[in-house]
Amino acid sequence: MLPAVAVSQSPEEKFREYLMSRPKQQRFTGQQRDMVRYIFQKHNHFDADQLIDEMKKDGYDVSRATVYRTLKKLVDAGLLRKLDIGPRKYFEHDYGYPQHEHLYCVICHKMIEFQHPGLEGIMRNVCQQHNFLEQGHSFIIRGTCAECNRAKMTKRRLDLV
Ligand SMILES: [Zn+2]
Ligand SMILES: [Zn+2]
Repeated sequence: MLPAVAVSQSPEEKFREYLMSRPKQQRFTGQQRDMVRYIFQKHNHFDADQLIDEMKKDGYDVSRATVYRTLKKLVDAGLLRKLDIGPRKYFEHDYGYPQHEHLYCVICHKMIEFQHPGLEGIMRNVCQQHNFLEQGHSFIIRGTCAECNRAKMTKRRLDLV
């Protein structure tokens, strides 16, 4: 987890403002407020089903449809970032959290965050070369993490014995 970035509004305030600014004003419902508070308690990478399971376990009453609809709006409002990893779609904080990239373990599904100034420089250069205005990007390295590699090695060694 990376250190948070200072922001002027709370995620709740920012989301309320987004709903108010829609062509057809939308109400900020109790379920949505619970969701925003819950999601912004801690930085995490989660998919919709994980969020529903965890919130239900913690005693919240949220409907699937509301969760799916609200996640989409939270991305639209700039509060969450969506990460497409094969068939799964993960979400994480974007608002109040620094730009970063990911290593994704295909065995244990762990997501490791990293920042690298060299990589940022390269992406800036590429955009400049193409006169391209970046709005965002996702850079995900898929593979196997140190722990899973160790487990694999151990298993291989045991198989040899
Ligand atoms: Zn792993
Ligand atoms: Zn992340």
